[in-house]
Amino acid sequence: MAADQKYIILAVDDERSNLVVLNKILSREFDVLTAKSGGEALTRVADDRPDLILLDIIMPDMSGFDVLAKLKSSQETRNIPVIIITGLSGEEDEERGFLLGAVDYITKPFKNAIVLARVRTHIQIVHQIRTIERLGLIDPLTDIANRRSFDDRMEIEWRRSIRENKPISFLMMDVDKFKNYNDTYGHPQGDTLLKTVAGIFASAARRPTDMAARLGGEEFGVLLPDTDLESALVIAETIRSNVESRRVPTVDGKTVTSATISIGVVTATPKDGDLAKDFLTKADQNLYTAKNTGRNRVFSGDS
Ligand code: GH3
Ligand code: MG
Ligand code: MG
Repeated sequence: MAADQKYIILAVDDERSNLVVLNKILSREFDVLTAKSGGEALTRVADDRPDLILLDIIMPDMSGFDVLAKLKSSQETRNIPVIIITGLSGEEDEERGFLLGAVDYITKPFKNAIVLARVRTHIQIVHQIRTIERLGLIDPLTDIANRRSFDDRMEIEWRRSIRENKPISFLMMDVDKFKNYNDTYGHPQGDTLLKTVAGIFASAARRPTDMAARLGGEEFGVLLPDTDLESALVIAETIRSNVESRRVPTVDGKTVTSATISIGVVTATPKDGDLAKDFLTKADQNLYTAKNTGRNRVFSGDS
């Protein structure tokens, strides 16, 4: 986004006076659009592509929760951050909002400065994500590192490992029978599954130097610098079992799906002249063995 272009905030509330106040708070810094119902909000989103949404919950035609669920079910709108701003102050309502994918929750009556501060925070995150995307380092479907940023990081960490004489581990993951999954539930649901497993990989990459990446299609990697085989195997097994136990509802809510992955693990303490490429090939071979010996398993050979 050009520096002179303002970010667009969509404020949704059936109470006109609330919209007037929100507009007043935000319009110095942002372009503010308003909608007085859930239906109008969805039309606005489709037409004007807001960068952030402030969403009331209790509205006559369609509740804010329904609007949120709808936004999250579509590939085009699911990444727009939604801040719930509501008179409902129960913890269950707050939890429900977060479960549906809201990024923040503000209760009415609200303090103007707080609304502005939270909106600024989330717009700043949007700005950072856009910047990274522009640099071409993030996979747009799963929001984790793409192949290109993985390759760069792999080289850096490989050389550091050689210099510091430290072990480095790598997990290569592939969704089992993913073709069947796509055939059974459809390609968009397949995409949802990829996002879900990517989230599991990203949360397994806990240290700042760890990196989860989508290497292509339904293949992923987790790079674990300064990590020996024993720890890598613990992480791999945690990932494997987290994927296996994760239930992924279909968009229509009628079916709950699940999937498994196979993982090839490698660890090395590389010396001068050793190539990262060979290390990755070994991971690929171990993944292949994990597939051939029954899938839904971790294989490391004697690496
Ligand atoms: P295996 O257990 O041996 O890995 O079987 P598989 O069916 O997962 O393997 P295969 O490589 O035959 O199929 C991979 C499938 O992944 C086929 C392809 O359509 C699908 N796929 C690749 N990228 C994407 C994507 O971005 N979205 C979706 N929905 N599917 C994808
Ligand atoms: Mg597969
Ligand atoms: Mg495959």
